[in-house]
Amino acid sequence: MTLKLKTVTYSNAYIDLSREELLEQVSQVMSDKRFTHVKGVEQAALELAERYGANLEQVSIAALLHDFAKEQSDEEMRDIIISENMDLELLQYGNNIWHGPVGAVVVRNQFSIQDQDILDAIRHHTVGSPNMGIVEQIIYLADYIEPNRTFKGVDKARKLAENDMTKGIAYATLKTLKHLLNENVKIYPKAIETYNAWVVQKQEELHD
Ligand code: GDP
Ligand code: FE
Ligand code: FE
Repeated sequence: MTLKLKTVTYSNAYIDLSREELLEQVSQVMSDKRFTHVKGVEQAALELAERYGANLEQVSIAALLHDFAKEQSDEEMRDIIISENMDLELLQYGNNIWHGPVGAVVVRNQFSIQDQDILDAIRHHTVGSPNMGIVEQIIYLADYIEPNRTFKGVDKARKLAENDMTKGIAYATLKTLKHLLNENVKIYPKAIETYNAWVVQKQEELHD
């Protein structure tokens, strides 16, 4: 059986490039391994977008750009955090937390992307946010379940994502937070807010 790759033709409503041109530019700022991951996130995200009725073009662009800043140097990232008047609390973290918010600024400047759904999806893809819209939800979850991910629990996350996006997000959020706590790393406060909103509050609402 051959698996058909999903694709989408860009209208120029969100970015002044074709999908192929965007892919080429993305490939130039990251390793082959990360580029493969990014293409996997796009496939997973397009599947979720079809299933849950999101805009395929917004989802494709956000997916292809979500890790755009990940291979920038810490120095470049710190400069952007300061020059863009971002929350200075960020400076206490590192690349893992920076590349989302910094990436949103970089792609806005480099590709003149104005669409807030796309920018928010990139900004929040690592730690999520309490009030994620559908494009943000899809990128957050697709980053976790994309086909190249192999960690324990990913199949459960994929199954949940197929049936109920909220449950998929809750599962991914809980697993990530537990993992971080196990590793004794510093938790970004927004990750806790995402946990409170998606793991605690949404489940309580289900049982009301
Ligand atoms: P990737 O860019 O595709 O590798 O994936 P993500 O952007 O989702 O995550 C990047 C890294 O950040 C992963 O190793 C996460 O475990 C880590 N991460 C997520 N939330 C936090 C947090 O609150 N604190 C810290 N220190 N790391 C986090
Ligand atoms: Fe990332
Ligand atoms: Fe990623």
